[in-house]
Amino acid sequence: MSLAPVTVPLGGPTLPQERRIVTPIPGPRSQELLERKAAAVAAGVGHTVPIEAVAAGGGVVVDADGNSLIDLGSGIAVTTVGSAHPRVAEAVAAQAAQFTHTCFMISPYESYVAVAEALNRLTPGDHAKKSALFNSGAEAVENAVKIARKYTKKQAVVAFDHGYHGRTNLTMALTAKAMPYKSGFGPFASEIYRAPMSYPLRDGLSGPDAAARAISIIEKQVGAENLAAVVIEPIQGEGGFIVPADGFLPAIADWCRANDVVFIADEVQSGFGRTGAMFASELFGVVPDLITTAKGIAGGMPLAAVTGRAEIMDASHTGGLGGTYGGNPVACAAALAAIDALENDGLLERARAIGALLRGRLEALQAGDARIGDVRGHGAMIAAEFVDPATGAPDAALTAAVAKAAIAEGVIVLTCGTYGNVIRFLPPLTIGDDLLGEGIDVVAAALAAA
Ligand SMILES: *Cc1c(COP(=O)(O)O)cnc(C)c1O
Repeated sequence: MSLAPVTVPLGGPTLPQERRIVTPIPGPRSQELLERKAAAVAAGVGHTVPIEAVAAGGGVVVDADGNSLIDLGSGIAVTTVGSAHPRVAEAVAAQAAQFTHTCFMISPYESYVAVAEALNRLTPGDHAKKSALFNSGAEAVENAVKIARKYTKKQAVVAFDHGYHGRTNLTMALTAKAMPYKSGFGPFASEIYRAPMSYPLRDGLSGPDAAARAISIIEKQVGAENLAAVVIEPIQGEGGFIVPADGFLPAIADWCRANDVVFIADEVQSGFGRTGAMFASELFGVVPDLITTAKGIAGGMPLAAVTGRAEIMDASHTGGLGGTYGGNPVACAAALAAIDALENDGLLERARAIGALLRGRLEALQAGDARIGDVRGHGAMIAAEFVDPATGAPDAALTAAVAKAAIAEGVIVLTCGTYGNVIRFLPPLTIGDDLLGEGIDVVAAALAAA
């Protein structure tokens, strides 16, 4: 039995910016969709928030039952400029009416080149750069590895503990965590090695000491003469919003440069203004050889890129890189609008202000609650790690309970971390202070009740 249709509001920033709970979550219409999902969609594709989304914008997601939820997740760091940003929506509509596809490898078009130019200009370093566009973060990481191997004529790749790089075969091998990303999906790609990450809360090491530990393992177990690339997230995303200690990333990057190893920064999650800098690498003073981007790049449209030193990017023979849809014109039009918003609407400054607000609120909570073991991050990429106060051991059960309770009260929060004990806050940069504060109030109440 279908329920009567509801009037669906337009998305974007004109959507009323409020938390409004009119039914239990999920409400009846959402419940109906979730039943269809269970019957029609593969069980491996999960969901965090049990709603049927019908509109989103500013700092809210509205469901089919008329609930308006505060969005502290941005669809995993994607809607950085806000969902249905008016200039993104306009650019998408205009491009879709012009042409939706030619395949850039068949008949090139201007927007792809303009996105490449913007990436070459915006990414760290003033050396000559080139870019190639793809569809997803995982595809960008795969291509960065291909490019580094071709350039160095070496094969081994080092990734780090807690790292996340995607769900394709090569990127599963690069990703650290077995459940849910890898279990049962092997065999994985060969010539992938893992080094220890700097994780200040849990290893107590300075950045240089953590780097020395990693480099020693790389030299002994892989050998610089075999190593094509090191792939690292400057701030780890799925692994727990882990911020390496100062000095760690520069030491790794310097070692790479001295050893003809390509330093690849995976900024799929941390890039495009998320941290209050255009790219998180800038916060640590590192200039990557190659940088992978996706998520926040195009206001919600699927687009990804590899950008880096021209001589490395040009190592591949013609036809070696690409894909049918890579740099789709509609996605490129969206990216140009999203990049314009990031550069010209004060959004980097806004990310820093969001970071100050989140950090202040979470540190105040931490001062009165020993179950918050750490508050960390930069800009609108902030996390709280939950622990057993007696032992410091990760408390995944508490984390899951707090997140579930917050969602039931209309606040979208995402968890992450190797140990599942981190709540990450990554709101759209278009969220207002009031809504952000209310979101944290709800999380705080859920923590107090847990
Ligand atoms: C999400 C993510 C990926 C994978 O991106 P997809 O678009 O989901 O393929 C890769 N690296 C990092 C750091 C990510 O956060």
